[in-house]
Amino acid sequence: MDWSGFPRESVNCMLCGGSEAEHLSVQRSWPVARCRNCGLIYLSCRPVEAALEEMYSREYYESTDVGYGGYVDNFKKYNKIFTRLFNRRADDIEPYRGRSRLLEVGCAHGFLLNHLQDRNWHVKGLEVSKLAAKYATDQLGLDVFCGKLEDARYESDSFDVVLLLDVLEHLHRPFETLKEIGRVLSPEGVLVVQCPWELTHWEERAEAFLKKMKPCTITPDAIPAHLYFFGPDTLEAFMEKGGFLTFKKQSGNYGAIRRKIKPVPVNTGPFYERWARFLYFRMGLQRMLYRLAAMIGKGNGLIRYARFDQ
Ligand SMILES: [Zn+2]
Repeated sequence: MDWSGFPRESVNCMLCGGSEAEHLSVQRSWPVARCRNCGLIYLSCRPVEAALEEMYSREYYESTDVGYGGYVDNFKKYNKIFTRLFNRRADDIEPYRGRSRLLEVGCAHGFLLNHLQDRNWHVKGLEVSKLAAKYATDQLGLDVFCGKLEDARYESDSFDVVLLLDVLEHLHRPFETLKEIGRVLSPEGVLVVQCPWELTHWEERAEAFLKKMKPCTITPDAIPAHLYFFGPDTLEAFMEKGGFLTFKKQSGNYGAIRRKIKPVPVNTGPFYERWARFLYFRMGLQRMLYRLAAMIGKGNGLIRYARFDQ
């Protein structure tokens, strides 16, 4: 798949509107920049919205380099790990159950929704990918709307919990989506946002240092599907601009499934590097550091609980 061939548009910083940006790197032909005013790292030139949506409907869930390669097969194969993660999620949102009405924006094939339904939530989902939405409705019998949130026309006060997991960094018009989430949530409703901490995370800083590269210039995940590369501060500022005030923070880790699906190669470089890689990736050093990092709020998954502030 050629990720450089999409029609493009240049943009200013979505967070503060600033046009002064420090150029960091070019990834798959897409320029990554950091706003000099607010610090948001973003694609200063990105695929137009329609082009990415088209891609999500086709290759995204099969592609191994940008999307979720073989997602359904992997879900079945690593079902135990997924179930453990889903149970943890279900426990985390339990305090906000209200009337048990839950919406997942960007629900993919609906596996999490299906799990939450078994835990007595009344679930609905939204998904732009026709392929994934069709699976959720046909195979799992879920109520999933294929399209954008604004087009689903839910009534105000329809949900107690809205999940936005690994979605915000993909959105061309994130503040419109956040505002609409605020409208469909109940007054006491809770939005749960999860996204990766990219480029300024300690592990990626260390990687850049070891490769003798400038900070924030390594290749981040999923370009050009990811349009923003958040850290804790920029994520919270982003949500606040969309009307949401964070009241609880969690630190998670991407890794358990990724390590299985796409193990990092250890047989590259000189012998000392091979040894270091072997120790870090194969002997559990990375797992141990991740666990420690999550405990002190430095995991590579940013999870925020927020309420809409009218
Ligand atoms: Zn900015």
